[in-house]
Amino acid sequence: MKFTKKQIDRYSRQIILKKIGIIGQKKLLRSSVLIVGAGGLGSPAAIYLAALGIGNIGIIDNDTVEMSNLNRQIIFSNNDVKKKKSHIAINKLKKLNPDIKLKSFQKKLTRKNINQITKNFDVVVDGSDNFRTRFLINDYCLENKKILVSGAINRFDGQVYTFNFLNKKSPCLRCFMPNIPINSGDNCETEGVLGTLAGVVGSIQANEVTKEILNIGDTLCGHILIIDALKLTFRKVRLNKRSDCLCNDK
Ligand SMILES: [Zn+2]
Repeated sequence: MKFTKKQIDRYSRQIILKKIGIIGQKKLLRSSVLIVGAGGLGSPAAIYLAALGIGNIGIIDNDTVEMSNLNRQIIFSNNDVKKKKSHIAINKLKKLNPDIKLKSFQKKLTRKNINQITKNFDVVVDGSDNFRTRFLINDYCLENKKILVSGAINRFDGQVYTFNFLNKKSPCLRCFMPNIPINSGDNCETEGVLGTLAGVVGSIQANEVTKEILNIGDTLCGHILIIDALKLTFRKVRLNKRSDCLCNDK
């Protein structure tokens, strides 16, 4: 891969970083990331990942844009209401960075289609809004040794998890939460969520993805990041592999 003059210019502020350089930028351009959910977390994550030069990005979302999404789903504008989320998101990213390959999946991620959709991506960003999808993605990524960066937001509280299943020591979502919790019906719709918190958590997810691909710094793998946007505290809590979890057989 030889950089064009435009590419050198576009990515110059990263290429100049010793830990990235030409080699790192090529790694990013060769990598592939699937974003599940073009929502509050998927919006900032997709924007940053496209801007910094992830070469292949997929977005899967079954929904259409609603007016109540616009406080936090910054990839959409007022005139996108009622339009298909994945298509709109991909079109926005194309304008931001025509240098990368983009693919939209306007559908729900299910047990039946997850392999077909996910198999060609190295990294999955989970920005989904329900536990059923979260567990589905966790189990698939564990089985197929993908890197998973998961985020969650509710009211003023956020969480980020990174699971690098290429590393045998990585815990999984089920180590923290063996099954779908009883109050799993709680979501942004019933509980509310602060718009900026989505930006914080989604951006941290994009940051984690970038570091995992480049293999630089310390990622969150083996920890959970717990964010309180009101007190403005960020707590990194150790998450160990549970001895009776299904990730122990992998
Ligand atoms: Zn586990």
